[in-house]
Amino acid sequence: MKPCSSSSGAKSRALPCYNRAMESPQFPSVSSHKHCPVCGQSIPPDAQFCSIECEQSMAARSRSQRRTTLILVGLLALIIILWLYFSLRGGG
Ligand SMILES: [Zn+2]
Repeated sequence: MKPCSSSSGAKSRALPCYNRAMESPQFPSVSSHKHCPVCGQSIPPDAQFCSIECEQSMAARSRSQRRTTLILVGLLALIIILWLYFSLRGGG
């Protein structure tokens, strides 16, 4: 057994811990402008689309996309229900 602290009388003081703050990486300023999600043209930051046509085409696209998602989810649920039904029935 050897003594833990050889220094007698010295108060164990907490070492100054220099916590390195999580230095956030400096992001390049990309928020000065954005691009139209439909055609990719650069547009002002407060605008969403470059033109009304792009806005309408985006709206139509998202509408059809939502329908496709609903159909996919419905099919998946149907498959799961059928699988559960047959596995419970045929399991014996
Ligand atoms: Zn556009």
